[in-house]
Amino acid sequence: MRILVTGGAGFIGSAFVRRLLSDKQPVPRPDRVTVLDSFTYAGTDGSLAPVRNDPRLNVVRGDVRDVKLVDATVAGHDVIVHFAAESHVDRSIHGASPFVSTNVGGTGVLLDAALRHRTGRFLHVSTDEVYGSIDQGSAPPSAPLNPSSPYSASKAAADLLALSYHRTHGLDVVITRGANNYGPYQHPEKLIPRFVTNLIDGHNLPLYGDGGDIRDWLHVDDHCRGIALAQRDGQAGMVYHLGGGTALTNRELTGSLLTAFNVGWDRVTPVTDRKGHDRRYALDSTATKRDLGWEPAVEFDQGLAATIDWYRENRAWWKPLIEA
Ligand code: NAD
Repeated sequence: MRILVTGGAGFIGSAFVRRLLSDKQPVPRPDRVTVLDSFTYAGTDGSLAPVRNDPRLNVVRGDVRDVKLVDATVAGHDVIVHFAAESHVDRSIHGASPFVSTNVGGTGVLLDAALRHRTGRFLHVSTDEVYGSIDQGSAPPSAPLNPSSPYSASKAAADLLALSYHRTHGLDVVITRGANNYGPYQHPEKLIPRFVTNLIDGHNLPLYGDGGDIRDWLHVDDHCRGIALAQRDGQAGMVYHLGGGTALTNRELTGSLLTAFNVGWDRVTPVTDRKGHDRRYALDSTATKRDLGWEPAVEFDQGLAATIDWYRENRAWWKPLIEA
């Protein structure tokens, strides 16, 4: 099987590639893994270093919006797993256009190429944020899309575009919507690595608003296993939820990190809340458990401790990203 992974130099995409090239993956051993990534500020060579010498890996430095390049790259692949995206909500609030152009336009370019080349499965990786803030209960895959930020609006648009290719052309599209990820190799602009690297460097933690926003945390390995199962066993045209099962307020999460570093609340500086900040995300993953046999396996406290250790041991990976 020849698998094309877009965004494979980013946080989750690189974890998926490392997993694909190990024996962990619940799909047949791939014959070839092609990474298509434009190496924005969020993509790094270092994230692929553990598999750099695997002869099955081919890295193409290029943009998913580049019609010619995408056409040439998609040819000869059996499966596309599409991670490439602008992914940081705060950046989308400062300017939506790269989000619309990459997340929506780039997805459209890939879908057209998949159709032209009669690629098999197109696995589109999406997010719990497309449902917007949910006060109570959890969203099933049939819940209406109600995104709040330009980031989540662009992801919702890409989801609808991908599903339209299934309905209109019969393209074998499957969508996963995952909860908030954490784990190694995550860019230090995101909450957990930002707080962990600040604590390592002796800086304070900027906590948004009252700290009461609730996020559902999913270890990146569990996310990648769920994506792999959806790739292998998912039904065309379906959306699969990959919830984390560990819902925490940002204040609770901050408390755990302070404890892990043996420091107090004097290390926290409250900052003005993000505009339009969603209070709570929650996915109902019942159907994914029933149909794919998936549920998260990494216990949050252990996953967080291992993530902290990784950032302690891999300063050479994250320090240049903070200084960039
Ligand atoms: P990331 O920002 O770490 O990585 C994105 C990757 O895409 C980078 O390597 C970047 O270089 C690449 N990229 C960006 N624009 C590109 C373009 N125009 N052409 C080619 N490559 C481009 O993001 P991530 O956290 O790994 O997220 C990956 C996917 O998973 C995204 O689609 C995101 O919406 C989704 N997702 C993320 C989370 C999360 O918590 N991080 C949760 C659910 C879903």
